[in-house]
Amino acid sequence: MPLFEYKCGKCGHRFEELVSGSDAKAPKCPKCKSGKTERQLSVFSAPGGGGNACESGSCDTGSCPTGTCPFG
Ligand SMILES: [Zn+2]
Repeated sequence: MPLFEYKCGKCGHRFEELVSGSDAKAPKCPKCKSGKTERQLSVFSAPGGGGNACESGSCDTGSCPTGTCPFG
């Protein structure tokens, strides 16, 4: 099962949740129990877990996931 990262829209708490298949139902925030959670884009290959390397301006040409790194 894929592991997705969610962010609570109420308290901002980030957490990970195992989701089966393409089930898009957002889980409740484990901290404040709010159902207002958003699924974040996968950060599996991002070192540091703070978004992708492109955003930090350290991606090499061709390695940017979008192929259009504005920092390249
Ligand atoms: Zn919350």
